[in-house]
Amino acid sequence: MKAKILCSACLTFCNCRYDGSVLSNKLIEALKPDIDFEVVCPEMAIGLPSPREAIRIVSTKGEKKLLGSYTGVDHTDQMHAFVENYIEQLDLSEFDGVILKCKSPTCGIKDVKHYGSAGKTPMLQTKTSGFFGGELKKRFKQLVIEDEGRLNNTEIRNHFLTCVFLHFKLRQVGNERSIIDGLVQFHSHNKYLMMAYNQSALKKLGKIVANHAHLKDEDVYAAYKNEMEAIYGAELRPGKNINMLLHVYGYFKKDLNEFEKSFFLEQIELYKVGFVSFETVLMVLKSWVIRFQNGYLMEQTIFNAFPFDGNRIRED
Ligand code: SF4
Repeated sequence: MKAKILCSACLTFCNCRYDGSVLSNKLIEALKPDIDFEVVCPEMAIGLPSPREAIRIVSTKGEKKLLGSYTGVDHTDQMHAFVENYIEQLDLSEFDGVILKCKSPTCGIKDVKHYGSAGKTPMLQTKTSGFFGGELKKRFKQLVIEDEGRLNNTEIRNHFLTCVFLHFKLRQVGNERSIIDGLVQFHSHNKYLMMAYNQSALKKLGKIVANHAHLKDEDVYAAYKNEMEAIYGAELRPGKNINMLLHVYGYFKKDLNEFEKSFFLEQIELYKVGFVSFETVLMVLKSWVIRFQNGYLMEQTIFNAFPFDGNRIRED
């Protein structure tokens, strides 16, 4: 079983763009061996051909419409009907994340051009979300949804992939013979990863796992999954995650010499002001996990958030 991502079909999979092309995408190509992709092209799903007239979002009489760029043909009702129908039949329990084409009037989740008038020289009004991407993002808060443009940013990409694989691992817990044992193990292995993202959510998750007596396993699992939204929705920020770094550092304090200690604390200070990355500080800690063979920390996903070598997905 692999993690599963819903993806815009024009991102490496299908020549379905308005100009008949398909887009290359290094990240998606790199992920293909480890992820099952399900693809969708809402514009083709409503019967538009490829190539076709480009469409745009236009406000007419206060209503957001999806219109042909030149002809002004109105695709709004068909797209609304498709989106409703598609979302209704979507079995969310099968997916771990969504990657959508950026800036598309259909798939875009933000920064989509929104015009104030139709015609050959339309007036740009503001930025909005696409008909499909915007609706997915609004309704499925428990899934990480990103556009391919934002995923070019290393931090956003790492957060996305971390959440995809966290979600996948938690989904697997639901198939285990003992859900509670699975949750206890999940919580333990992901403790420092979740602490880096959101400490108060980590505490609430811990309470859910600890206070499972007298409750049905399915209810405990549902409550845990629900609280995980606070982790998926969090961002890795210095300040929040320094606490986690210092916690892990605490395991080694007595085994390190004064030079190593001051080097580490100096890296923390540099990280606080943005001169070194989170990954750099983490790698210092990882080298000590290996050196001192700390079995508990070796299991921690903060040191191994993806089940493959992260270098494979780095930009050249
Ligand atoms: S952005 Fe969405 S609707 Fe447009 S071609 Fe790609 S998959 Fe189809």
